[in-house]
Formats: sequence, C-alpha cells, structure tokens
Amino acid sequence: MSTLDRYYNYIDGAWTGAETWLMVADPATDEPYAEIAEAGLADADAAMAAARRCVASGVLSAVRPARRVTWLLAIAEELKALTEEAALVLCRENGKSLEVARGEFEEAARYFEYYAGMADKIEGTSIPLGDDYVDFTSHEPMGVSVQIVPWNFPPSICARSLAPALAAGNAVVIKSPEISPLAMTFLMTACERAGLPKGAVNLLCGKGSVVGAHLVKHREANQIVFTGSVPTGQRILRDAAERATPSVMELGGKSAAIVHADADIEQLVDSVKAGIFFNAGQVCSAMSRLLVHRSRFDEVVERLRALAEGLSIGPGIANPDLTPLVSRAQLEQVEAMCRRAIEAGATCVTGGERVSGTRGYFMQPTLFTDVAVDSEIFQEEVFGPVLVIHPFDTEDEAVELANGTPFGLVAGVFDTYLDRALRTARRLRGGQVFINEWFAGGVETPFGGVGLSGFGREKGQEALYSYVQTRNIAVRIKGA
Ligand code: NAD
Repeated sequence: MSTLDRYYNYIDGAWTGAETWLMVADPATDEPYAEIAEAGLADADAAMAAARRCVASGVLSAVRPARRVTWLLAIAEELKALTEEAALVLCRENGKSLEVARGEFEEAARYFEYYAGMADKIEGTSIPLGDDYVDFTSHEPMGVSVQIVPWNFPPSICARSLAPALAAGNAVVIKSPEISPLAMTFLMTACERAGLPKGAVNLLCGKGSVVGAHLVKHREANQIVFTGSVPTGQRILRDAAERATPSVMELGGKSAAIVHADADIEQLVDSVKAGIFFNAGQVCSAMSRLLVHRSRFDEVVERLRALAEGLSIGPGIANPDLTPLVSRAQLEQVEAMCRRAIEAGATCVTGGERVSGTRGYFMQPTLFTDVAVDSEIFQEEVFGPVLVIHPFDTEDEAVELANGTPFGLVAGVFDTYLDRALRTARRLRGGQVFINEWFAGGVETPFGGVGLSGFGREKGQEALYSYVQTRNIAVRIKGA
C-alpha cells in the first residue's frame, strides 16, 4: 500500500475509498504528494441517488428558508477554521502561493456568507389579473445540480456555484478536477461539520471523460454548471442536449486591456502584475492581451520588461511573485505555444521558455510584441504567464482589436479621462469590464461570458437566479 496521504470522495454523508487511486504531484518538485480515490460510475450513480433522495425529502427546499441561512453561515465558519490546513494542501497540490491559497479559502467562505444573506430573500411576485384571480410566482430550486470544476481555483470556483445552489434549496453533486482535487475535500468537511443533511452535497473525483460525462448525461441531473475549457464545454452542451438539461457555461477567455494615451502607467503596471502573473497566468479572466496607444507603446514595453524580469519565481510555499504551472502537460503546452509564436514571427521581449535547472513546472514570465492579429498567440487562450502587447492608433481600432476574438469574458480600460474610459468600456464585448484596475470587483459582482466564453452568470445577486426556475400559480377565486 502507498505511503502517500489519502483523500476520499464524499457521497451521501460518508467518505468513501476506491479500488483505484489517482496520484497528485507537487508542481514545484514533480514529486508525488498525495493520492485520491478515483470515483467510478457506481459512485456517480450513488451520489446522484443520494442527491435525489435529499431533494425528494424536502429537507432543503421545504424548510423555512432561515434554516438554510444558518447552514450556510455555519459552513462559512467551518471553512474559516479549516483555512490554514486546507491552504497548505492547495499550495502543495496546485503550485499556487500559500498566500493565494489562503485567499482562495477566505473567498470560498465569503461566498457562503454572501449567499446566506440571500437564502431567505428569494421572493416571487404577485401579478394583477383582476378581481377574479390571485396570481403569484415562486422561485423553485432546480433539483439536483451537477457542478463540474476546473483545476485553477478549485475551492473558490466550487464555492461560487455550491453556495448559491444550496441557498436556493438544491442538492449538489460536484466533480472535482483530476489535477488538484485535494483541497476541495475541505469544503465537504465544512459542510459535514455544519450539519448539512445527508446527500445535500456530494463530491466525486474521477476522470472527466468517464465520471464527468456520466453525470452530465444522468437522468437525475436537473442542471449542469460547468467551469472549464471551451472544447469540454462544447462536448457537455452536446451531451446535455439529449435531455435538454439547463446549463451554465463558464469557459475560457483571451481578454484584452486597452491603454489610452493618458493612462496612469504606475496603475497599469500593478494591474499587469496581477492580470497576467497572478496564479502564473492560469486564470480564465487573465489579461492576456494589452493594447497600447502607440504614443506610449515603447515606454510600456520597457516598464513591463522590467516588471517581468524582476519577478521572484519559486515554490508556492515561499510566496514568490510567480509560481509553477499546475502540471508538466500544462508547462509543455504553454512552452509550445510560445515556440509557435516565435516561429510565426513574433518578437519575444523576455521569457518564452521554461525555467531551466529545476524539475518543477516553472515557466518564465513572457512578453510578446510584433504579433499578427490573426495568429494563434493573439487569438487563443495560453493559460500561462504570457502577455501579448500590441499598439493601436485610434479608439475604434483598439475596440476592434479587443473584440476581435471569438471569446468575450472580461476586458479592461486604462485612462485618466473617465468619460473616454466609460465610452470605451461600453463598446467592449464581455461580461465584465475593469476600468483602471484589472480584477476590480468581488463575490458581489456578476461574472460570466459572451461568445465562446460561455453564458449564464456566477457571483452577485444575479447568480442566484441561475439556480432556480420560476413557477407561476394562478388561482381563480370567483365562480363563473
Ligand atoms: P477542462 O475543460 O479540461 O476540465 C474542466 C473539468 O471538466 C474537469 O473537472 C474535467 O475532469 C471535466 N471534464 C472533462 N471532460 C469532461 C466531459 N466529457 N464531461 C464532463 N466533464 C468533463 O478545463 P481545465 O483544464 O480543468 O481548466 C482550464 C480551463 O477552464 C481554461 O480554459 C479556463 O479558461 C477555464 N476556466 C473558466 C473559468 C470561468 O469562470 N469562466 C474559470 C476557471 C477556468
């Protein structure tokens, strides 16, 4: 038997093992770190059946909503108590800095607090139909919500969907990613300690093409919430079409910031540091393209070269500026995209390859200029610390370049003239536009994409309505 620490699936209120175990490596060292039970189809069926029993019992949906408030607040408190232990696991399995890992659990707790505040305010409306009728709407839970989570922010993305789903009275079956699945188990511990009813939450770690696909096609699935890549999202949508299962799709991006001639460059440099180097650029809403007014282009490139070359690089546990990528495959993919960009004629200002002399999955911070706008590096998501910098002459040109990919997740504008910044922001394609600070917003602000970046909204009050369906009841109150 292996000497590695073992993690388990959580089904119907119990922790369960498996015949096969998936090994999880430490991205900073390439050494095995721990292993987790690999869920199979029978586990998926058991989780779906448990969730269905929970829904049918009414224990979540038929109780006074204030009960759900107390459950969600208790989960938040339990998560806070687990944060130190859980953040260390997340840092070791994912490569991210300990500080970022801690922040992710704090954010996860915040989602439960935020949606706790809404759980007893999901109100319907009364619709006037004249004296002969009483008519009202109610927001009913979807039922069993299947939620599929990617590896870049597993606990916070999981909490982002789980908290509103529970607030609305749904039972949930979660599929964690094969890479970096361990820290998500702490969310189940928090739910268990908070006394959530059996079957209300279930967590399975297994292969996407096996367990994930099985859940998506499952007859008990009333909803699919998917966060991940575009090809997987498209595959899931095709599978969901079989049963017309409603879906929320949070997919990838190739987001651009526009830097007008009067932008505050100090503010911009801070935003670039966060926008493309935070979490080693493995962020769906990363700032992966920077469009700079030609009058400031050379200055910006030089400032960003100094920024990139001055970043500290190291294992997450040391809290450096830049941490390793999540896996060897991810490192190879990012490096190959950089190689193809150079072959296609782009100028690599700095970086462009992996950090040598280490077994960890470290990619150099990378900047490209002289990039053709129809090239792969300008059009496709890299999911690494790689930024394309491109000049523009007019606002129209900048907007066209920013909107010129099939994605539309987020966008940004940097300018000291707020009227121009707002005008530009309104013209940008995407669910969220940042002005003068990349990632401005929080759990309170709606997030989601257009085009290939997906549909539906997470976060904010609006997201709650992704987890309910409206029912209208009309009552005839007078005889004919
Ligand atoms: P991925 O699509 O490879 O996997 C995501 C999840 O889907 C995993 O849990 C995987 O096991 C599962 N999966 C794979 N095939 C499946 C199938 N046929 N049926 C059901 N489930 C299946 O994505 P990833 O590599 O884990 O994550 C990176 C991608 O996620 C990037 O494209 C990134 O932009 C995107 N992302 C989007 C958001 C957002 O909110 N918009 C947030 C984070 C990441």
